[in-house]
Amino acid sequence: MKLADMQKSDLEAVEKQLLGEFEALKGEGLSLDMTRGKPAPDQLTLADGMLSLVGPGETAGEDGTDYRNYGIVEGIPEARRLFAEYMGVTPAQIIVGGNGSLTMMYDTLAGAVLFGMPGGKGPWKRAGAAAGSGEGASKVICPVPGYDRHFAICERLGLEMVTVPMLDDGPDMDAVEALAADPDVKAIWCVPKYSNPTGAVYSQAVSERLAKMTTGAPDFRILWDNAYAVHHLGGGPAEIPDILSLCEKAGNPDRVLMFGSTSKITYAGSGVAMMAASETNIADAAKKLSFATIGPDKLNQLRHVRFFQSMDGILAHMEKHADIVKPKFDAVEEALSRRLADKGIADWTAPQGGYFVSLDVMDDCASEIIRLAGEAGVKCTPAGSTFPYKKDPADRNIRIAPTLPSVAEIEKAMEVLCVAVELTCARRLLGRNR
Ligand code: PMP
Repeated sequence: MKLADMQKSDLEAVEKQLLGEFEALKGEGLSLDMTRGKPAPDQLTLADGMLSLVGPGETAGEDGTDYRNYGIVEGIPEARRLFAEYMGVTPAQIIVGGNGSLTMMYDTLAGAVLFGMPGGKGPWKRAGAAAGSGEGASKVICPVPGYDRHFAICERLGLEMVTVPMLDDGPDMDAVEALAADPDVKAIWCVPKYSNPTGAVYSQAVSERLAKMTTGAPDFRILWDNAYAVHHLGGGPAEIPDILSLCEKAGNPDRVLMFGSTSKITYAGSGVAMMAASETNIADAAKKLSFATIGPDKLNQLRHVRFFQSMDGILAHMEKHADIVKPKFDAVEEALSRRLADKGIADWTAPQGGYFVSLDVMDDCASEIIRLAGEAGVKCTPAGSTFPYKKDPADRNIRIAPTLPSVAEIEKAMEVLCVAVELTCARRLLGRNR
């Protein structure tokens, strides 16, 4: 029954019972962390075979180059070939770099702010323009809810964020097209597959509109962060459109910059990251990079190539991840549907891959729910994190990150979270904040 349809006295009885449950859970002295999308130790162990693949005397590349030494800014050729296939581009359209795609995204935007991008009229940073000042600051479109670290990069670099709603098949394109017509709007963040946090997969129609739309800025960029390209939950990776080809066909070959990494394939701290784009963009990025490094960690790239050998090797490896991760997502779904379905107080996503479940609760309740869960020893991502400037205008979105804890821990944490949701919503309906 919907909580909102209950008589006041029934609702008060529900509140009392929930409070009892909450106090009992609190008494267990839990200490559980559901804050970040980190792989669990057994996922990391899946890649341990990699560690012994580059030993003494095994450090030369396919053409005999000694990878212990300086050089090869764009990444070793064998890694460029493997990850070109992974990203759906040619080897000339990719840079394979260090251990995190976030660094590449940060550097790309920092480079745009300082030096500009091919096709543009100069640096994205305007003299005297401060983020939030309205006039003149370069802007970035942010589908919400979205990934907090994307937003943090923009905030750090003074790029003003403008939001559009994230729908089931990508961002609301009417809203995107309206914003992109503004010459100050320079980019859009996209997580096209199993998006963080909703799990949405971009459709052909949305991707085509992104590739074709008229933009006010000639150097507008789609920041296509394909962080979860092969990270399915057992059903095989979803298909997404080939955005680079769509942009080429639409006459906008330089519009998209694609990012990816093996952070959640091999090691979150020692994977390899990649950026793929038109050869013009790759040449620009390689030039910018050449001022910052004499070359990436080539031995780690070599380890990855030897470990996987081929795209099939990557896909086979991801089946093992799915076996570990799927039961955790099932535990989240089980708790949410058992405790919250049909009560009219929450909706949540059922992702087919990625690292998150997105939970929307009654308006103005998320902060209090997260506070209550914390009081009972369950740490959740702070309310507002999935919005620019950490401000969720409706205070309703909660990101659940189930990969790191064990299934038993998730079951416990979800019990706490669900009780906190019900209790907070019941109190709101009774006209109280707490
Ligand atoms: N992009 C998205 C959408 C992510 O969710 C994450 C990790 N949470 C990253 C990028 C980070 O990637 P990397 O480890 O390659 O820096």
